[in-house]
Amino acid sequence: MQEILLVKYGEIILKGLNRPVFEAVLVKNIRHALACFKGLKIYAAQATIYIEPAEDTDMDEVAKKLLKVFGVLSVTRACVVEKDLNKIMKAAVEYCGDTLRGSTFKVEAKRADKKFAYKSPEICRAVGGYLHDKVEDLTVNVTNPEHVVMVEIRDYAAYVYCGKQAGQGGLPTGTGGRASLLLSGGIDSPVAGYMMAKRGLEIDAINFFSYPYTSERAKEKVMDLAKILAGYTSKINLHIVPFTEIQLAIRDNCPEEHLTLIMRRFMMKISEIVARKNGSAALITGESLGQVASQTLQALAVTDDAVNMPVFRPLIGMDKEEIVQISRKIGAFETSILPYEDCCTVFTPKHPTTKPKLDIILKSESVLPIDELIEKAASGVETITL
Ligand code: ATP
Ligand code: MG
Repeated sequence: MQEILLVKYGEIILKGLNRPVFEAVLVKNIRHALACFKGLKIYAAQATIYIEPAEDTDMDEVAKKLLKVFGVLSVTRACVVEKDLNKIMKAAVEYCGDTLRGSTFKVEAKRADKKFAYKSPEICRAVGGYLHDKVEDLTVNVTNPEHVVMVEIRDYAAYVYCGKQAGQGGLPTGTGGRASLLLSGGIDSPVAGYMMAKRGLEIDAINFFSYPYTSERAKEKVMDLAKILAGYTSKINLHIVPFTEIQLAIRDNCPEEHLTLIMRRFMMKISEIVARKNGSAALITGESLGQVASQTLQALAVTDDAVNMPVFRPLIGMDKEEIVQISRKIGAFETSILPYEDCCTVFTPKHPTTKPKLDIILKSESVLPIDELIEKAASGVETITL
């Protein structure tokens, strides 16, 4: 039996002028995600993307990749049938019979090809009746069935299937511009990156690295997290910023309770430079209101003052438990909890200020050669593509 994968995407975005752009980017991203499979035929028609397999294609593996592509609402494995009602009825039994046996079901039909001789209710009746006759122990239930058998009559052929897998949703990567994610080794920032990439942004990652206070293994962990994110987008450039000199300068010259905030201001300023250089128009962080001293409203205001581009904080209103749930769902959690130190944890003050005033922080940091330190760190950036 000939099979095919049908990829559905959201309807809302399809209205108006956005549609061709959206669809073209989604097809491009799908082609990229499936590049490792040989001989696939991929094309879009009638608000669906079709993936025709080659003879030896592992359809489950293809589906698995598709389910990670942003913009994909669902992936369906269907059988392809000639547009002939008798053949469709037989195909429904052959293709869906094993799944349906002993359960409740109903049939739904979509007739995109209006030239097809039978209307949707007639198709449902014919296919439903035939299934009921041929498959043992089958009960019709139109209100709350265990299985829905779908029959779609389209331009090229008819498709019969039973069940679909939910994709990530969101918008195709690249339809929303580019932003730079401040990626630590923690739980929060990979989730923040995932959430913004899901809204169509292309993502670069920036990590601040304090060798030898943070180890090579900590760097590898960040690379692994960037790779996990890259599984959802196309590829990710990870910019590693040497941060030791700045952290030592802050530690040796500024009041201890201001260390974290001044450090965060440096991070933001350097990130803005790296971001602009790489075509990003915004920064993304994993901050969540009130989670730690540097994430109070007052602290975030002091941090924001350091930059002149939008800072996206998609986790701002979320509890840790909610963040952990997404972290697990995207496959980052196990890596995030590996116990390697981060540059923030190494230089944490005992009693950080929680209600900072901008003028006081500015005064504390003014003893440092700020521009010189920033320039040096920004020029020492190492970029790895993952
Ligand atoms: P995470 O779990 O993402 O590490 P966190 O709750 O530990 O976050 P902080 O350490 O205060 O919070 O960091 C807040 C945000 O600042 C992080 O989510 C991340 O976006 C950014 N950040 C922190 N440390 C680094 C780093 N070493 N390199 C790049 N970005 C960082
Ligand atoms: Mg952290």
